Amino acid sequence: MTSEEFRRFGYQAIDWVADYLAHADRYPVLPRVKPGELTDALPSCGPEKGEPMETILADFERLIVPAMTHWNHPGFMAYFANSSPPEAILAEVLATALNGNGMVWKTSPAVTELEQLTLRWLRQWSGLPDDWFGMIHDTASTSSMHAMAAARDAADPQSRTRGAQPGLVVYSSEQSHFANEKGAIAVGIGRDNVRKVPADGEFRMRPDALEELIERDLAAGLKPCCVTATVGTTSTTSVDPVPAIADICETHGIWLHVDAAYAGSAAIVPEFRWAFEGCERADSFVTNPHKWLLTPMDCSIFYTRRPEILRRAFSLAQNAEFLEVGNLTREVNLMEYGVPLGRRFRALKLWFVLRSYGHEGLANMIREHVRLARDFAARIEADPRFELTAPAPFSVVCFRRKGTDDENRALLEKVNAAGDVFLSGTVLNGHFTLHLAVGNQATTAAHIERAWKLITSE
Ligand code: PLP
Repeated sequence: MTSEEFRRFGYQAIDWVADYLAHADRYPVLPRVKPGELTDALPSCGPEKGEPMETILADFERLIVPAMTHWNHPGFMAYFANSSPPEAILAEVLATALNGNGMVWKTSPAVTELEQLTLRWLRQWSGLPDDWFGMIHDTASTSSMHAMAAARDAADPQSRTRGAQPGLVVYSSEQSHFANEKGAIAVGIGRDNVRKVPADGEFRMRPDALEELIERDLAAGLKPCCVTATVGTTSTTSVDPVPAIADICETHGIWLHVDAAYAGSAAIVPEFRWAFEGCERADSFVTNPHKWLLTPMDCSIFYTRRPEILRRAFSLAQNAEFLEVGNLTREVNLMEYGVPLGRRFRALKLWFVLRSYGHEGLANMIREHVRLARDFAARIEADPRFELTAPAPFSVVCFRRKGTDDENRALLEKVNAAGDVFLSGTVLNGHFTLHLAVGNQATTAAHIERAWKLITSE
């Protein structure tokens, strides 16, 4: 492609993006495609000769877009809704143009330094300790896997050479994300050694039950090595009692990891600081700007106050002479703190978002999402046909129609079939329940109203 052609197609693509962002609601949130339909519509072998960009872009619009679930649709209220604002899209284009690879500081100083800088800004805005070390991963699952690797190393420094020894045990509540199980599988602790701590009536980990499980494992000669507390659980956004959990971890010398993948963004809002009490005592902490901080996929922040353990778990600098890893104090080489060597420039989009919205703009967006969610929860509470199934501390509301699980499943299907709203479902206390999450930049009271109409129409 010549630079003239690039300009022409580039303008065309940006025009398409601008239209898409302005009218994402012209598409059904959920695509109306069947499994395999897209695959069948595309050639089964790649082209022998290159094809013209006109044809590729036309196929993008004709085939790819209709097979997308539109996370940028303002009616997307499933899971943890999020969005990609134009500022971040521009940053992604520029990052790709630069094609930087932050394997080590020298291979792209800006990639490493902007990552350190943006994570420092966020720590300051969130009231998290200033001396924490941070890095960006693709997902919270990867971040939590690194927490578990560090915890394993802290408990058994030989594990990096000999492999994980039997007997290590990790803990998280029955409401925690399965990322914890995957982490335990990945670092060789094993799924059988993941304890699911019972939760209380408001879906928060019970510290007394945690203590009991730890004592039982110790008595059996096992080695408790990591507790994951969740601030903002996946189903209900409940907040585990981090101070009490931190006490237990300190008593037994166990690594405390905090999973704040969704709710971590709310730490920038002073009214929500209560949810992060005790987090300053964590050994590691994950928050995903790609969940609630206007940053597109993918951007997960992993902080630790013990970077030396993380580094001990992963550093192979002495085996990486070809990278000429330097040793200057200001030269951070992130490959030494985790699995990935190659590292794309994720911090650029985060930097664009933090700068263009500012602390105030982002905090106000979160406040507005919480306000919309509370308004919806109030409607549910006021209608005798429905009930809230969990407290709603942030921007997620769990509710059900009083009736059977089948009726609630049918209700969810009906609401989603309309095409302009997408809610998800979960199971709480053994009952199917609906989950409405406000988190998209474009979601307004009108979209909540539309969801309410669909939910209540007979
Ligand atoms: N932790 C929590 C509390 C989550 O809700 C999720 C996903 O929703 C994850 C971890 C996993 O996130 P990711 O998709 O970034 O791996």
